[in-house]
Amino acid sequence: MGNPLHERRSAAEWSASSQVIEFAEKIGKFEQLSAIIEADLAALDADKIPAGWRDAIVAGQMKFGFADAQQALPMVKCRVTVTVDTVCQRCLEAFRLPLETEADLLLLALEQEADGYAEYEVWELEESLLQPQSIVEEMLIMALPFSALHVESAACKVLSPVTAKSADDVTTPFAALREQMAKDTEGSA
Ligand SMILES: [Zn+2]
Repeated sequence: MGNPLHERRSAAEWSASSQVIEFAEKIGKFEQLSAIIEADLAALDADKIPAGWRDAIVAGQMKFGFADAQQALPMVKCRVTVTVDTVCQRCLEAFRLPLETEADLLLLALEQEADGYAEYEVWELEESLLQPQSIVEEMLIMALPFSALHVESAACKVLSPVTAKSADDVTTPFAALREQMAKDTEGSA
């Protein structure tokens, strides 16, 4: 049996069958998303790149139906979760970031308009056939933070008082100045 996530049908067909897709798919199967994560992790030294990041499971559900009683407006309700490996932009260490995203999408052909459905976001159908995976992938790409940061300060080396020396200190002239001042104080003591 094929994986419905990869099948291509018209939006009307998906909706007419009230298709419900439950999925659990490795992140490596999402090409664009993987490329983005790979580029992000490339900031790390090769030995720090988490092994098996491509095996993280993208899980969720898609429920197709119609937004209107006349069944002219196909829609899909989606819920997706995944935990991605990423790099904290503050301490430059790898960490695992849980993502959760939901959307109710009105599946409209190009130029097609629908008034009075403000509770939906519009998904423009660029091709006549819709592959559900492309929606899941786009939702996750949109959910990726512009700048990933450790959520818990205890986990972040920069925020943790134990290792207060940040990467910035090494390169700023202020650091050199502070060091010089510290030496001067020592000398006068
Ligand atoms: Zn951090």
